[in-house]
Parts: sequence; structure tokens; C-alpha cells
Amino acid sequence: MIKNKRLYSPNMVKEIIEDYDFRFSKSLGQNFLIDGNIVRGIVSGAGITSEDIVLEIGPGIGTLTEELALNAKQVLAIEVDETLRPILAETLSEFNNVEIIFQDVLKLDLEEEIRNRFGDASIKVVANLPYYITTPIITTLLQKDINIHSLTCMVQKEVARRMVAKENSKDYSSISVFLKYFGDGKIILDVPKSVFMPKPKIDSAVVNLEVVNRNLSVGIDQFEKVIRASFSMRRKTILNCISKGLSLEKDEVREILSDVSIEENSRAENISFDQYVLLTERIFR
Ligand code: SAM
Repeated sequence: MIKNKRLYSPNMVKEIIEDYDFRFSKSLGQNFLIDGNIVRGIVSGAGITSEDIVLEIGPGIGTLTEELALNAKQVLAIEVDETLRPILAETLSEFNNVEIIFQDVLKLDLEEEIRNRFGDASIKVVANLPYYITTPIITTLLQKDINIHSLTCMVQKEVARRMVAKENSKDYSSISVFLKYFGDGKIILDVPKSVFMPKPKIDSAVVNLEVVNRNLSVGIDQFEKVIRASFSMRRKTILNCISKGLSLEKDEVREILSDVSIEENSRAENISFDQYVLLTERIFR
């Protein structure tokens, strides 16, 4: 391996891939970053300082991990692909503040892994997420009993737009409302497909979400049920969606909607976050 060169150099990535005869797995969403500006942009956009503990999902060959290790106090990375073990052992060998757990992030007891290492310290999540499970990873992480300070994730551009969309826009969907429960997301970087190896078919974007305590009276489980029901049938009215999705009589739903001043003919995409909170409160009171 070429010494004194950063991992995001395209030649470096090529060399590592060849040295280890590594085969990219499409099904694991393996598109590795090969652009220093983007790698640095993600880490500075996440506001990583030498005080921070970072959780990275999917380090790949360690490109983003390297930049995180240079800036953070501690990095814990979770990688499902065992074939990357020898590569990561070499590419990150100079760092003593990085630990990799080789497991599926959705199957791992992350709460315990984090508690054992860091207690209840605040964690910044930074990741170039595998596209096939972006939403499950984000929603699962946020619902765990982990003290997450912020999430900074590369996702497909369309998903990024949905994540930060406001009501009455075409991108407003269940993930927009769900995320708002935890904080206000913003797109901090647009990322062209040319900065990945192999090059994916779609562009990407990096979303940053600072987690805030909104002191809401409704729990995320109840809130999620209401959002899921509301967005379950895109062209149907909120009356129909809630009635069908939550198995409630239409008359009962009419009364609920009237109590929280939501028109029964509204569509899910026209209802604001605050109205969803009121609706959830009223349904489960
Ligand atoms: N961070 C690297 C980069 O930016 O170049 C690689 C990002 S690549 C888009 C996604 C990574 O997530 C791959 O290394 C893949 O093997 C890993 N991955 C996929 N599914 C995973 C899962 N369920 N749990 C943990 N890692 C996963």
C-alpha cells in the first residue's frame, strides 16, 4: 500500500481493492468515497471536535473513518462485511482511537455496546449509509436508548429531500414528520455520483439532524403509528387513512379530527408536524 497518502485518493482506493482482491457488493450498498472535499465536508458539517465520540455505520475501507479518527476523540464503527476486516486492520492501523465491530448494525445490541464503552456520553453519528437500508437504520438509531447528539448521514438525494421536507410540498412524507420528532434536519452537502467507486446511478446528499428535546407529551411509538396510518394511502383523505390504518370508526375519527381542527378531507401531506402531535395526543388520550 502507498504510504503517506490519504484513503480518499482514487489511486489509493484502487490499489487497496486490487491488493486484497476485494469485490464490491451491490447488495450491501458498497459505494466508497474517493473525494477528499466530500470526506472533509461531511466531518466538518458534523462539527466533529477532539472531544467527540463518533458512531460510524459502514466504514467500508475506512475512508471516512480515517478523517473521523483524525478529528474525533473516539470512533466506534459498525461494518457488516467481514471481508473488509483485513483491509480495515491495515488502513486504520495507525489509529488507536478507532474500534470496529463486525456485525449487522440492525442486529447488534447497540445500546449495550455503547453503554459498555461510553456510558451515557453523547454520541455523534456520522455515516455514508448503505442505500438499501437508509431509513431503517436512521429510524432504529433514533428510537434506541442512546444519547445521540446529532446524525450526519449521506443518503440518496431523493431520500434527503424527503427527510427535510415541509408540509404542502411534494417531498413531504412519513419520514419528514418522523424526523421532526427528533430535531430539524437540513441538507448540508449535495454530492454528485462521480465521487464514489463504483459510481452509483443516483446522486446523494448529506443530511444533518441535531437532536433536540422537544418535551413532547406523545411517545414515538404512538406518534409513528399515527404517521404510518396517515401516509398509508397517499391519495386518500386523512379521515379514511386514520380510520382504516388504526381500525377506528369513521364517526369517531371525525370527532377526533374536529377536536384538533384538522379538516377531514385533508391529505397527509397537508398536515403539519404540530398538528400530527395534537392528533396523536387526542387519539391516545
Ligand atoms: N464509509 C465508506 C465510504 O464512505 O467510503 C463506505 C460507505 S458504503 C456506501 C456503505 C457501507 O456500509 C459498506 O461498507 C457496507 O458493507 C456497509 N453496510 C451495509 N449494510 C450494513 C449493515 N447492515 N450493517 C453495517 N454495515 C453495513
